[in-house]
Amino acid sequence: MSATASLRHDWTLDEVRALFTQPFNDLIFQAQGVHRQHFNANEVQVSTLLSIKTGACPEDCKYCPQSGHYNTGLDKEKLMEVQKVLKAAAEAKAIGSTRFCMGAAWKHPSAKDMPYVLEMVKGVKALGLETCMTLGTLDAEQTKALADAGLDYYNHNLDTSPEFYGNIITTRTYAERLQTLGYVREAGMKICSGGILGMGESLDDRLGLLIQLANLPEHPESVPINMLVKVQGTPLAEAEDVDPFDFIRTLAVARILMPQSHVRLSAGREQMNEQMQALAFLAGANSIFYGEKLLTTGNPEAERDMRLFQRLGIKPEAREEHADEVHQAAIEQALVEQRNSALFHDAAAV
Ligand code: SF4
Repeated sequence: MSATASLRHDWTLDEVRALFTQPFNDLIFQAQGVHRQHFNANEVQVSTLLSIKTGACPEDCKYCPQSGHYNTGLDKEKLMEVQKVLKAAAEAKAIGSTRFCMGAAWKHPSAKDMPYVLEMVKGVKALGLETCMTLGTLDAEQTKALADAGLDYYNHNLDTSPEFYGNIITTRTYAERLQTLGYVREAGMKICSGGILGMGESLDDRLGLLIQLANLPEHPESVPINMLVKVQGTPLAEAEDVDPFDFIRTLAVARILMPQSHVRLSAGREQMNEQMQALAFLAGANSIFYGEKLLTTGNPEAERDMRLFQRLGIKPEAREEHADEVHQAAIEQALVEQRNSALFHDAAAV
């Protein structure tokens, strides 16, 4: 049986709850075992995220400072010029990113904006980076145009369980989200889809989200697990903190349910100390954002991440389907330059 054939798409809440509630050490041991069957346990994929259109979004996601429904004092920006996006992508590549994610605060892309968006995909691709976009709801035609332009990944988060969804977003439905994910698959692109912890959801809601993702016809290739970043002015500004161990447990369950997916430690990483990030990697998280700002909420600086990688013996992962030596050499060169710069701290030297 191939590794893919052994993937499951029929998880039940009882089974997943039993995984989550087992003793912490047993859960982490199990998740790390699964992780090692499918990945190099000492590699983490690194993506850079750029907001290409910021704020004034017509959706009402209660966690989001970019929603036009809340007053968060965020500076709104129109769609960025293609050349500026390409410059940022070239910078991201130079600091070792292998994937460049572009996010626009839209309900859906308009016909007027699509040509610019397609140019961005082609340009970033030509730089030798994987491309990812998040533009809101897509129709079948837009999805095909993005795939034809060379878009590798489409990010479209399910956010939470279907049962809790209406408490967080009222301007679109879960079914619409699933429909866009279906179009993305039909067009042959990879899926990045995950959710947020800390919005007042129950344990069953967290597990319900993971079950939704794992029970899709194919697992998303990338599963971002976010910790709510509480922003003043949004309805969730005073939400209760997530227990750090529950967060790590959720990552571990995601790793077990979707063994071949990259589980991304995503928004909220800035609030986590290094020990918690190390535990997240132990639980099977193997993807992070670094470098540029993580949309509008800030992200630890690239050199701090490189330093943590160095101390943990972690290497940034090269592009999977790109064994191409030129690209690998570019990443290694970027790392050498970082190491030689005053920003890079070598734990062995102190
Ligand atoms: S999460 Fe996305 S869709 Fe929701 S308000 Fe923010 S930018 Fe808009």
